[in-house]
Amino acid sequence: MDFSTLRSDVSGTVFSPDNDGFAEALAMYSAPGPAVIVAAASADDVVAAVRFATAEGLRVAVRSGGHAGPIFSPGADRVLIDLHALSSIVVTGDDGILEVGPGAVWGDVATELQQHGLAVSSGDTAAIGVGGLTLGGGIGWLVRRDGLALDSLIGAVVVLASGELVAASADENPELFWALRGGGGNFGVVTSLRFQAHPLGEVLAIELHLDPSRLGETLRALRDVMLTAPEQLNATFAVIPNGPPGPDFAFVHHVVAVYAAEDSAESRAAIAPLLALPGVVDSTVTPSDYRGLLAELPGGPGAPIPNVTVRDALLGTFDTAAIDVVLAARDQLGPSVFTVRFLGGAFGRVAPDATAFAHRSAQVIVNIVEFLPPGAPAASGRVSEAWAPVAALSLGSYGNFTSEVGPHVVAAMYPPATLARLRAAKTVYDPQNRFADNENITPD
Ligand SMILES: Cc1cc2nc3c(=O)[nH]c(=O)nc-3n(C[C@H](O)[C@H](O)[C@H](O)COP(=O)(O)OP(=O)(O)OC[C@H]3O[C@@H](n4cnc5c(N)ncnc54)[C@H](O)[C@@H]3O)c2cc1C
Repeated sequence: MDFSTLRSDVSGTVFSPDNDGFAEALAMYSAPGPAVIVAAASADDVVAAVRFATAEGLRVAVRSGGHAGPIFSPGADRVLIDLHALSSIVVTGDDGILEVGPGAVWGDVATELQQHGLAVSSGDTAAIGVGGLTLGGGIGWLVRRDGLALDSLIGAVVVLASGELVAASADENPELFWALRGGGGNFGVVTSLRFQAHPLGEVLAIELHLDPSRLGETLRALRDVMLTAPEQLNATFAVIPNGPPGPDFAFVHHVVAVYAAEDSAESRAAIAPLLALPGVVDSTVTPSDYRGLLAELPGGPGAPIPNVTVRDALLGTFDTAAIDVVLAARDQLGPSVFTVRFLGGAFGRVAPDATAFAHRSAQVIVNIVEFLPPGAPAASGRVSEAWAPVAALSLGSYGNFTSEVGPHVVAAMYPPATLARLRAAKTVYDPQNRFADNENITPD
């Protein structure tokens, strides 16, 4: 394949497999990798790369932060567009508007925003990219106060499969804007995102250590507290490893919570029911800024993603029977991260048809990340078997929280009317399914 025209059209770097640097540019993706990697330096580079793909009959894979890399590793008939250099973060004016490149990471966004007394609810980890997290959803520490990350998105600039660069917002290409918010990377390459950020000062970071013999009791009481809690309170029940598998391996059982207001008598009163949960053996309450809430990747920035299998379930009802089912599933798993994140509040107030993320009646999202030996296949039969009773209770799935890929996942992510509308939008914006390295919505 001749890349000379592409090289002259692009101001960023073009890596073909016979170039030095290709293996490094492939980063977390598995070999042999795509036909070519375009490390874009501008939206125009993205236009050139998409047009090249069309001319060569190739598909387009997109990488922003790269953290879904092990799941969506592109094959040899792909152009991989790497957006990590599109990472500018600009707060415009004093109305809390954030213009950000898709390759920026949420830790850097938080650092910039908090200098303006602002935040956008992202996820729980600093190194995750703005592009992939936002287009899928974004469940973070302010989800009950401000909704998903995509609920704060007010506009985007997109390179379509046709090679056109267009704006999407409530006023411009509104159906594209609807589809982008939850439709993942199916509709084009997003080169810039505009958010309405929200005021946020200091918050309270809360950690409760739990008696592992009383987890059911604690989780039932936590569910009751969260049903009537103020929306500033966000909580995750978690059973996590104390470190990598090894002789000292043990699980940590805890509730991590955030109260989105500064330390005051009123805030302390609001979190008191949490501290009084049964089974709490120890607790800390620490004032923090929003950036301080975001975890670093185990192994530090740029660390490879371990071999994992990931499952999730959005549950509409989290009654005692459901709690028993999820805890029984957890007990069957080996070294793994198990979380129950409480939703509701602003997340639940968004109308199901306002964005393509439609499962708004979910009360919680339950998630497991099981660590597999290096090289083991991600489709672990044991995990699927353990998870089946939880999946049977679920309303659906959040695509960013599963390592499964395929039509059954897409069917779980979207209720039928949402999927029909997404497929109609796909037919308009990407009729050849040029963007297929994702939870793929096929054109009609
Ligand atoms: C350690 C860890 C912690 C996490 N914690 C959370 C959490 O707390 N909350 C949460 O909601 N999620 C969380 N996630 C999941 C995360 O949201 C997804 O993995 C997300 O896809 C990562 O985004 P990215 O930009 O880094 O990934 P990428 O791999 O770059 O992108 C993922 C996919 O999104 C699409 N895409 C990305 N950018 C664009 C773009 N600009 N235009 C078009 N399509 C694009 C592509 O299909 C791509 O394959 C976590 C993931 C990890 C690894």
